[in-house]
Amino acid sequence: MVVEIISVGTELLMGSILNTNAQHIAKKLAHMGLDAYYQTVVGDNPERLRAALDIAYTRADCVITTGGLGPTKDDLTKEMLISYFDCTPVEDPEALRRLETRAAKRGVPLSESMRKQATVPAGAIVLQNENGTAPGVIIEHGGRACIMLPGPPKEMKPMFETACDVFLRGKSDKVFVSMNVKLYTMAEKGLPVGESPVADRLGTLVDGQNPTVATYAKEDGVLVRVTAAAPSTEEARELLAPILAATREAIGDDYIRYVEED
Ligand code: AMP
Ligand code: MG
Repeated sequence: MVVEIISVGTELLMGSILNTNAQHIAKKLAHMGLDAYYQTVVGDNPERLRAALDIAYTRADCVITTGGLGPTKDDLTKEMLISYFDCTPVEDPEALRRLETRAAKRGVPLSESMRKQATVPAGAIVLQNENGTAPGVIIEHGGRACIMLPGPPKEMKPMFETACDVFLRGKSDKVFVSMNVKLYTMAEKGLPVGESPVADRLGTLVDGQNPTVATYAKEDGVLVRVTAAAPSTEEARELLAPILAATREAIGDDYIRYVEED
């Protein structure tokens, strides 16, 4: 399954906050072996969110959104998707009960804006929010799916795990395992810092398809990532081991290096 992330929030576009949600989700999708080829950031604007969805569904079967599920006027992701898929809005009794309990604890009545968070598309999977107020939602409609998650990372992360359990896992027939070999330069040996001398040493190893061997220039050195895809983690590790060993041998002992699982 091809998945695409749409991060909703004007504050992301303005550079006020860093899009750590997309990074978190992208990394998890990669480990799960789910293909994700594009990411979009869009402001809190219904027309532009609609346009972003239109484009995303030409390339992906499943869109994961974060942000815009809260009680305020600019939180419009769920309303937008209910309209996008022409769903019937219904109130989720469990989400409403949780909101009422929260309001009662504070000794205040449940406001209309807080209550709107309990509205979900009919037939959706509702992901209750254990760390905040807005539930997440999974809609499947005409072969297209959308997983809507809240913006705050401490709410989004655990809810994403639930979405994996109830929906995403099982949509992929492979997992990825990566090992990073981090190389630091040894200035006293006058060894070259750059990516290309390292790539030269790796030779044809970088042409491999599975595992893949890729180099990345970093500010303080070079990272070589070896990635294997297989039906299980164990099989991926088995595939990876000889190529990792060959990679280390090709690089040689000149560089200070350490190896870590990504
Ligand atoms: P929202 O639900 O869109 O109003 O977002 C609520 C808060 O969640 C924002 O003010 C940010 O602090 C945080 N947030 C939203 N989107 C992201 C994101 N993509 N990455 C990191 N934090 C985010
Ligand atoms: Mg917002």
